[in-house]
Amino acid sequence: MLEIFIIKALSDNYIYLLRNEQKNITSVIDPGEAKPVIKFLNNKGWHLDEVINTHHHHDHVGGNKELLDIYKSKLIAPSYEKDRIKNIDILVSDNEIVNITGISTKVFHTPGHTLGHVCFYMPEEKCLFSGDTLFYLGCGRVFEGTMDQMWSSLLKLRTLPEDTSVYCGHEYTLSNMKFANYIDTNNALLNKISLEIKNNRENGLPTVPFNLGIEKKINPFLRADDDNFIKSVGLNSNNASESFGEIRLKKDGF
Ligand code: ZN
Ligand code: FE
Repeated sequence: MLEIFIIKALSDNYIYLLRNEQKNITSVIDPGEAKPVIKFLNNKGWHLDEVINTHHHHDHVGGNKELLDIYKSKLIAPSYEKDRIKNIDILVSDNEIVNITGISTKVFHTPGHTLGHVCFYMPEEKCLFSGDTLFYLGCGRVFEGTMDQMWSSLLKLRTLPEDTSVYCGHEYTLSNMKFANYIDTNNALLNKISLEIKNNRENGLPTVPFNLGIEKKINPFLRADDDNFIKSVGLNSNNASESFGEIRLKKDGF
């Protein structure tokens, strides 16, 4: 049984610390900084066996070096970013199955935010680590890839089971929520979830993980191929990836 701990880092990053007690394996996903991870491990008395990265941005890999120096952990990172992430031990690629914290994990290549971004899905644990590809009520900015690539990447994630818990790279939920409500004015489920989100944030609680089944109904970026939704938003694009691009641009300027 896997335990997942949320460590807050930088201004709004989430680092995920994974612990498999039975196998005595501890891993960390996207350590944007080392200090809070070291502090956490010291408290628990755990060694760090694995460091995992979803993509090369500094707010996700900034703690790699210090952690690898101290713990001699194995670094698992996308093969596509091997020139941008230093000292990778295990390169992972699309559709590969790797062991993370001793748990069988499927890798999805999800280009868009960066060209080599990957997400990690653990079927037995019903959880997805989505990095900066899928956020709660949002998605990553499209920096390196095309809108079409990002849309295809989100579609890969959308096919995962409804009962998947999603752990994303940032606490951007409140601002995503404002945008979602701005373009999707008549969504009862979104209204209900928005109250929960506001309540959690007012109490300083993280909004992760979130449920993928619900997300499919309320995240505007996952609904670019829903004709009724697209019409109600007032877009008249020819295809889903164009609609996605228009929604993404609207959010960039929001
Ligand atoms: Zn990023
Ligand atoms: Fe980031």
